[in-house]
Amino acid sequence: MGLWAVLLNRRMLVLTTERLLILQVNSRQRLLHLKSQIRLGAIKKVQRGLFNYVRVVCHEGRAAMFMGIKRADKKALRQMLAYLRENCGPSEVLAREHLCAHCFVPITKICTQCPECTGEFKSATKAGLLSLLFPGLGDLYLGHRGLAAFEIMGAVFVWFTVQSVGFVEPQSHQGEVPPDPKIMMVVTAVIIFVFMHGWDALVTAYNGRKGLYPQPSSATHSCSS
Ligand SMILES: [Zn+2]
Repeated sequence: MGLWAVLLNRRMLVLTTERLLILQVNSRQRLLHLKSQIRLGAIKKVQRGLFNYVRVVCHEGRAAMFMGIKRADKKALRQMLAYLRENCGPSEVLAREHLCAHCFVPITKICTQCPECTGEFKSATKAGLLSLLFPGLGDLYLGHRGLAAFEIMGAVFVWFTVQSVGFVEPQSHQGEVPPDPKIMMVVTAVIIFVFMHGWDALVTAYNGRKGLYPQPSSATHSCSS
């Protein structure tokens, strides 16, 4: 799961004279759906850490953390940010903003419809509920097809193993009454549902709130601003 999380959360940083653009890319550096920005005037401080991370702290909202940046890039990013921030004006928004994938208007909160172009976004709650129904379905809905296939195959294998428990011949040890395999199967099924489905639901809903995933069919009007 850790590797997949890294692949899903790969970002390209683009620094302009007014903002830091944070663009989701795949392993071939091709742009994906999630885009966000931090206005330079919204940045309170930039911290760096031992493990190749740069933390951009905003005046409001949560800090944005970027890991795996090369040492030279990390230094250049901090120096350029420091220089540009000295020369930028005050910002009216002091937190990280998501950009609508339909019209690129900045939106501060996770929502299901763009207030500017009425383009729709996928619901993190729906993604979580789908994953609760069966692991992988929520990621399929969010468009993470590789991860979804991996999770569905894993869950099918686990459930196939669980149902086979019900057909194991009970064996008695030293005169003890053997456990009923059907009851064992039900107990195992409940544990699997709570932990495997429940955990995947939480992780998928969390990933669904990382940005605005566009509904492909809802690209409606274009926006003039
Ligand atoms: Zn929009």
